[in-house]
Amino acid sequence: MIIFGTSSSTIHPAKLDGGCCPFCKTKNQMWIQGYRKYFHVFWIPFFPLWKKIYSVCSHCKGVFEKKEFKDQELTTSFEYFENNKIKIPWYHFTGIILVLLLIMLISILPFLTK
Ligand SMILES: [Zn+2]
Repeated sequence: MIIFGTSSSTIHPAKLDGGCCPFCKTKNQMWIQGYRKYFHVFWIPFFPLWKKIYSVCSHCKGVFEKKEFKDQELTTSFEYFENNKIKIPWYHFTGIILVLLLIMLISILPFLTK
């Protein structure tokens, strides 16, 4: 029996530079956070799937998606973080790395046993 499915890991929150909350209008209190789904086999992450990134206001605790932003400064800051600061954790590729290592081992094994 092969156990597989999807799981997710959280993306650490980071404070955005500037921008104001779309709801309470508080300036400079917006944070970016989210999670990334990954595909796993026997709980070993194989490859990353989609990510969900949203913004949280530390003043009113409101949660907002990018399409809800009314503020250009906030959108710019959010996109900068989304593209530059939020990286895929390497361990999301553990399964693929293990498979590649196994293939390498199998292919060099005949040379080692000669
Ligand atoms: Zn707010």
